[in-house]
Amino acid sequence: MIIGIDDTDSNEGMCTTYLGALLLDELQAYGTVETRPLLIRLNPTIPYKTRGNAAVAMKLKTDCPEKVIAHVVSRIEEFARIECEKTNPGAVFIPEKAYEKLKPVLRNFLEKAVKEVIEIEEAKSLISESGVPSKGFKNGRGLIGALAACGAMLNLEEWDHTFEYLAYRQKEKWGTPRKIEKESFFEADRNTYPDTWDTVDLKNRLVVCVPHSADPVLFGIRGKNPAVVTKAVSLIRAEPIERFAIYRTNQGTDMHLISAESIAEIRDMHSYTLEGTVSAVPETIHGGHVIFPIQDGDGNEIDCAAFEPTKNFRLLIRKLRPGDRIVVSGSVNSRTFNIEKIEIKKLAPLYREENPVCPTCGKHMKSSGQNQGFRCKKCGTQATSKILCETNRNLTEGLYEVPPCARRHLAKPLVREQKSDIEIHPAR
Ligand code: ATP
Repeated sequence: MIIGIDDTDSNEGMCTTYLGALLLDELQAYGTVETRPLLIRLNPTIPYKTRGNAAVAMKLKTDCPEKVIAHVVSRIEEFARIECEKTNPGAVFIPEKAYEKLKPVLRNFLEKAVKEVIEIEEAKSLISESGVPSKGFKNGRGLIGALAACGAMLNLEEWDHTFEYLAYRQKEKWGTPRKIEKESFFEADRNTYPDTWDTVDLKNRLVVCVPHSADPVLFGIRGKNPAVVTKAVSLIRAEPIERFAIYRTNQGTDMHLISAESIAEIRDMHSYTLEGTVSAVPETIHGGHVIFPIQDGDGNEIDCAAFEPTKNFRLLIRKLRPGDRIVVSGSVNSRTFNIEKIEIKKLAPLYREENPVCPTCGKHMKSSGQNQGFRCKKCGTQATSKILCETNRNLTEGLYEVPPCARRHLAKPLVREQKSDIEIHPAR
């Protein structure tokens, strides 16, 4: 049986991955857990999300499915923050005999849940048409994520993946400040980067894998395989944990990005890669956000933004100039493209005016007065106007990204990038 769960937390606490880790341990009483559990990130622009729009799936070999369903439902009832308006839990239970039939259907559903916006009714009709057991609470919106996570489990070979080791706090500590030895996270990073990433942000001197909210997560270490995240964790010194789980995940894979041919096809609440030309000098607006427009071949424009939380990434963005050819990746909301990554494909030459150079003496001429041209002081040679000289852009072509402290869960970090035809500048 595949079990998908979503939407159990609120801003005040809980986390669906914690419920997943708890169930993984408890469900051993009813069968055997097959394969690693999944932590699937869905469309990052969805307004109903609490934090990272995550859903969870696990696979269990069992001969008492009714007991499993009853147990999962009772744990959701106990742990989910039902009182919160935004919390609408959902759980789906796919019996083994339905795997083959649902595999392609749920593959498409997963793709749509990561890239598009889905109505609750679509999830509910899929459930009723396929006849799979499910349980929705309140408006049942969590059924969307639960189905998508099941789709990921049925189609493991279809999507790129990474791993995350999630350590959970002892229950009595939830909501209190986390006790961690900061330096041990930097040590873990030094010993395992680039096979792990986003543990710390070196430039901003931050530990980024420890949340600040009231949820049960103590830290989450992301990396390319279970062994390396476990090695990183062995170097971390922090308060004792209640339990942990290593999830296979679509984090750090760019699965949310749609390749856009033109600006006309861009819609809010979707994420894209888009090629265009910078059409005005970037401006820093109130709050420290840096905004500039890009234009496509049809002459359409859209604003791109490096928001204040992207910190030092804004220094790079401020160096862009009209005519630069770029490819941006990121999410669109309120007709603004929130940049996660940028490829600078071709820098436009930039010129500044200088006094002309004397062809005989090789020295810059001096102005002879307003509108009277220029004259060489030494030999008297004259010229009428200034000349244009190409300036150093102080920027190189290549791929750049926001720092770890501003990374979106789904954004593929540049340390994972395999491209060899382009200069890659991973942020550390
Ligand atoms: P949690 O830890 O509970 O998973 P979260 O930050 O991941 O917290 P949720 O509380 O799960 O956010 O809220 C997201 C809600 O949006 C869920 O009900 C989920 O089913 C729904 N959802 C996810 N993706 C989409 C989508 N593409 N279209 C519409 N609804 C979606």
